[in-house]
Amino acid sequence: MAPRWGRVLLKLSGEAFAGEAGNSIDGGTVARLAKEIVEARTELGVEMAVVVGGGNIWRGATGANSGIDRATADYMGMLATVMNALALQDAIEKAGNQCRVQSAIHMAEIAEPYIRRRAVRHLEKGRVVIFAAGIGQPFLTTDTPAAMRAAEIEAQAVLKGTHGSVDGVYDADPRTHPDAVKFDTVTFHEVLTKGLKVMDSTAISFCMDNNLPIVVFNVMQHGNIRKVLLWDPPIGTLVS
Ligand code: UDP
Repeated sequence: MAPRWGRVLLKLSGEAFAGEAGNSIDGGTVARLAKEIVEARTELGVEMAVVVGGGNIWRGATGANSGIDRATADYMGMLATVMNALALQDAIEKAGNQCRVQSAIHMAEIAEPYIRRRAVRHLEKGRVVIFAAGIGQPFLTTDTPAAMRAAEIEAQAVLKGTHGSVDGVYDADPRTHPDAVKFDTVTFHEVLTKGLKVMDSTAISFCMDNNLPIVVFNVMQHGNIRKVLLWDPPIGTLVS
C-alpha cells in the first residue's frame, strides 16, 4: 500500500518521551518511537523529519511562573528539546537508519546548524532529520517551529502525535467530558473560532495560511505512525 504523503514532519511532544513511568527520558519508549519512525522510512519510503518538544524536562511557561525571566526560561526549554533530540537520534541510529540533528541554536560539537537545503538533502538521502531548539526564538512552544520547519522543507503534512489518551480533536476535553465528540475532519477556521485544542493558535494560523494539513493522532498507540501514513482507514483527526 502506498503512503498518503511522501514527506512529513512528525511533531513529538517531550512528554511522549517520558513513557508511562514518568521518567524524563524513558529509553524503552524512545526506542519504540524510533523503531516506528525507521519502519515508516524504510518500509513505506516516507521522508521523515521530526520536531521534538521539551516538556518532559522543562517548559518556559513553568519557569516564568517561578520567577525566571520568560525569555531565559524559554531558552532553557529549547535546550531541553536538544536533549530529547539527541536521545531520539541515538535510538534511530540503533534502529538502523541514519539520522541528523539540526539545531536552531548553534552547538557545533553535538548537532549540525539548521540549514534548510542541507536538511532537504538529508531527507532525499533517506536520513531522518530531527530539528532541535525550535526556531531559536523565545515566546513560542515547539508547535509553531514544527509548522514552520514543515513549510520550509515542503513537507506535505504535519503529524502531531499526542501523548495522552486523546486520539484526535474533540469538541471538549474527553478526559473531563466523557460525552465529548471526536472530529474525523475539521477546518482551521473551526479550530480557531471554537478554540479547539490542536496546536498553538500561531501554529494553526501558519498552517492555514500555507495550506499545510495537520493530522492529530495518538502516537503512544503502537503502530499508529504507520497507520497515519497509510491513511487507510484514516485515524485521528485531519485539520485542513
Ligand atoms: N521553546 C521556545 N522556542 C522555540 C521552541 C521551544 O521558546 O522555538 C521553549 C519553550 O519554553 C517551550 C519549551 O521550549 O515551552 C519546550 O517546548 P514545548 O513546550 O513545545 O514542549 P512539548 O510540550 O512539545 O513537550
